[in-house]
Amino acid sequence: MLIRIAGLVPESFVDGDGIRYAVFMQGCLRHCEGCHNPETHALDGGRLVDTDEILAAIKKNPLLDGLTLTGGEPLLQVDAACELAHAVKNFGLNVWCYTGYTFEEIPAAAQPLLENVDVLVDGAFVESLRDLDLQFRGSSNQRIIDVKKSRAQNKIVLWSEFVG
Ligand code: SF4
Repeated sequence: MLIRIAGLVPESFVDGDGIRYAVFMQGCLRHCEGCHNPETHALDGGRLVDTDEILAAIKKNPLLDGLTLTGGEPLLQVDAACELAHAVKNFGLNVWCYTGYTFEEIPAAAQPLLENVDVLVDGAFVESLRDLDLQFRGSSNQRIIDVKKSRAQNKIVLWSEFVG
């Protein structure tokens, strides 16, 4: 399946826990003030790649802990995001996903993605709440959510290893 990306980082140490393959997905309609990745906004920007190419690169690297879907807004290409997340879980790796939606706002069409996401960093970046000391997120409104526990308990449960 084709996916429109702004870029790929084969080994990232800042987009979640451990060593991660980060997919910066192209396209975001929010235009948050102070966004760090404005080049990811245009829906027709970036480039198209095949998800199989990404999966082959992930499979080849035994050092990876997981995949991070970020952007841009990953939920705008939910089918491709689902395919990557599902395959990566089958490799035995974990999946983090960043989104401008809050957990409560995630649209029904994106719920299948959450089946294969371990950690969701939710909410749009808010410049007035920007804090450089925060781990894995840009502003303090964003939460690092344990998706499985949150869905099981029907309330927000923060990622237990999160210390920031
Ligand atoms: S949601 Fe993320 S990518 Fe989109 S404008 Fe806001 S900070 Fe930028």
